Amino acid sequence: MIRRRKHHLSGGFRLAGMPKPIRPRDVPMDIYEEVIALWAFGHRTLARKDEILEARIIARSESGIWTDTVAEWSFEFEAPGVRKDLVPDQDTGTCLCTHAPIEKHCHIFNAVNERWACVGSCCIENFMGIPVEGIIRGLERMEHNPELAMTEAVIGFARKHGWLTDWELGFCQNTLKKRKLTFGQMETRKKINRRITNANAALRLAPPGPSFYFAF
Ligand SMILES: [Zn+2]
Repeated sequence: MIRRRKHHLSGGFRLAGMPKPIRPRDVPMDIYEEVIALWAFGHRTLARKDEILEARIIARSESGIWTDTVAEWSFEFEAPGVRKDLVPDQDTGTCLCTHAPIEKHCHIFNAVNERWACVGSCCIENFMGIPVEGIIRGLERMEHNPELAMTEAVIGFARKHGWLTDWELGFCQNTLKKRKLTFGQMETRKKINRRITNANAALRLAPPGPSFYFAF
């Protein structure tokens, strides 16, 4: 068990007697209480969802510095093999940032303290800079029609997983915008696309364990 370090919050400190920030109407009371207990106040507001996400991610990370917390987390789309109790917020339809409803539940895993959390795709994009929506759409398109070119988002995703060799990476990039492929090129594309679709499906079915997580 890793001992939790004290947080070094970046937002200054709240002096005794200083008023609490006003709770925005769409932030539930319990989350408001949670976030203001985390923030060292004075300079922070709670008006923005990214500030709420930041506070709650820091609270679930070992590093108390926002920019360092990102490296602790890796991300998985709705990880089916994950025990529900490991992802405490997953069935609420609500992102950590309080945004609701969320369509895609993106599970993120902290490899340092082994905690899970659930956020929406927009927050994954903001927090980790991963184009989740683009990856999902690209994978779905490719699954329905393996003759379509792999999108750049999916190429990046497949590459991170080690599913594309250097040659295949070059092939996908070079043929991405080509209107007409030769018969041989089309066969190669379909072969690669099917393999990526299968690899992704296998990933979704894999039991939870260290090999299951992928870091971007
Ligand atoms: Zn969010």
